[in-house]
Amino acid sequence: MTSPAQLPRVTIFSLGGTIASTNVGAGQNADGVTPQLDANDLVAAVPQLRQFADVETRPFGQVPSGDLTLNDLAALATAIDQRFAAGAAGVVVTQGTDTMEESAFALELLVGAVRPVVVTGAMRNPTLAGADGPANLLAAVQVAASSDAVGLGTLVVTNDEIHAARFVRKTHSSSPAAFRSPSAGPLGWVIEGRPRIVFRVAKLQGLPSGAPGRFPAVALLTSALGDDARLLATLEALEYAGLVLEAFGGGHVPGVVMPALADLAARIPVVLASRTGSGETLRDTYVFAGSERDMLSRGLISAGFLDGPKARILLSLLLSHGLAIEGVRDSFERMNASVTSFQS
Ligand code: ASP
Repeated sequence: MTSPAQLPRVTIFSLGGTIASTNVGAGQNADGVTPQLDANDLVAAVPQLRQFADVETRPFGQVPSGDLTLNDLAALATAIDQRFAAGAAGVVVTQGTDTMEESAFALELLVGAVRPVVVTGAMRNPTLAGADGPANLLAAVQVAASSDAVGLGTLVVTNDEIHAARFVRKTHSSSPAAFRSPSAGPLGWVIEGRPRIVFRVAKLQGLPSGAPGRFPAVALLTSALGDDARLLATLEALEYAGLVLEAFGGGHVPGVVMPALADLAARIPVVLASRTGSGETLRDTYVFAGSERDMLSRGLISAGFLDGPKARILLSLLLSHGLAIEGVRDSFERMNASVTSFQS
């Protein structure tokens, strides 16, 4: 048997979420669950981990994932880079699944090292039959310990599937198969403990180097049938520094919204994403008022392949670096170009 010293070192950071949730213990809500278990508890429940990695634990937080902030993730990214500098071969982050697609993408943009960062969680908490946390943790460690996962950016591993942070979404409210990459599919899977990576992704470009500064407020709005511009008109007074708009289909809004939208896009970065959850925004097809061509010609910035929540993470980071509208546009363009820039 391989001794721990010969195994790749994998650091596990725990942040809370369903994977860490168990009964409160007493009182009116005794049958309900809240995040209470930390990385040490999670590792103790899966002794098989020690066959694959020299595991070290770093309890980092204990929250439902809706309480995480970009400041938390920037601090986590710094801590992750420190573990890599200290010799870790890979890192696993356990957290709630509700915002996992956003934190994984934020870590993709914030972590400097190319070694694997794997985010995982659970859809069924440890008190339920068929809890998926232990299996997800084991698969995540197996991927994080694998040299095949180097250079793939941040990954999400759940349900024995390996997803790229840039594509993955939570697509179901309760299924253990909730995580999917609707536009691109998973990069691979885990079988009998072996990560099988069948597609590789290119390194994303377009983010300024250096540490982020203060994160300003960035709004995420979704277009809906019969929308008017009333919400748009409130954003600046509420001190939002940018907006991501999840528009209909390939990138369309009701024509009546256009004057206010164009006016806003002249003053703060307004990013055009699709509310469909997969595919890219169009650039060059429709010319009606409120079409993608109308919006792009009036200063909106294309999110391209990034969905609304991920475009919001990128916009927040760019604004924290002090970029103004044209700098933001350039970064979104470069990130979109880099998604297909493979090295042969
Ligand atoms: N509410 C939980 C969270 O922290 C849900 C989960 O982990 O699945 O995101």
